[in-house]
Amino acid sequence: MSDQTSRLALVTGANRGIGYETARQLAAEGVRVLLAGRDREAVAAAAGELRGAGLAVRPLVLDVTDADSIREAAAEVERTYGRLDILVNNAAIRVEEYGRKPSQQPLAQWRETFDTNLFGVVEVTRAFLPLLLRSPAGRVVNLSSLLGSIGTHGNPDSYAYSDMFKSLPAYSASKSAVNSWTVHLAYELRDTPVKVNAVHPGYTRTGMNDGEGELEIPDGARTGVAMALLDDDGPTGTYTHRGETVPW
Ligand code: NAP
Repeated sequence: MSDQTSRLALVTGANRGIGYETARQLAAEGVRVLLAGRDREAVAAAAGELRGAGLAVRPLVLDVTDADSIREAAAEVERTYGRLDILVNNAAIRVEEYGRKPSQQPLAQWRETFDTNLFGVVEVTRAFLPLLLRSPAGRVVNLSSLLGSIGTHGNPDSYAYSDMFKSLPAYSASKSAVNSWTVHLAYELRDTPVKVNAVHPGYTRTGMNDGEGELEIPDGARTGVAMALLDDDGPTGTYTHRGETVPW
């Protein structure tokens, strides 16, 4: 990590799942990666595995729901590196139970979900934005979901038009809000080098889905990695999956 010329990325919630694989793929592309997570031992172990494979990865303790943790992490990155090139907002939770009607999901779960999936994304981004603006090619990638697509949810031909996928209203709404935040920030930064995009990784076999899904984790990480590595001609303010636009 002593090389100050290659790009520096920070991936939140990277101790497991799509975040871990995103960190691995970015590092394999020659990016220095800060593997962030809320559990000190878990991030140390995950970063240690990737360092053992010869990748330039460092652990960073960062709980996206804890303002002090966010502030301390941003201060540490500023002190050590002075800038950030890529921020992947990956950390998220799904606490609702499949099978319950939308109106029966408790309000406490809405608040818990929004604290992590929306307010965490906004607060982390605000904290690191000054460092991203020091990069010649800043990139922000927000891990959204097809379940954040209101157009898809309303389409009777979509797989989201089902009891199963209508039982996660807080999770889905949090991702719709992440999409809205994405276009707002992309607009604000439109005359800067910073590009801000949302991605649907695909329905991926991770802990979040109790191991269910259509994609293995390496494929689930690919869309986010591609958007993190966009060149200067790439788009901003988009919502995509594998290069295809997802309906808002
Ligand atoms: P996952 O396996 O459940 O992993 C979630 C990660 O987020 C874990 O590292 C977890 O850390 C971390 N996290 C949760 N709360 C946190 C907090 N307060 N601070 C920091 N880290 C926190 O999930 P995944 O399936 O890889 O999902 C990654 C992203 O893709 C999420 O944004 C998810 O919504 C999105 N997504 C996933 C799918 C899918 O099919 N898997 C589909 C669409 C979108 P701990 O280990 O400490 O809990």
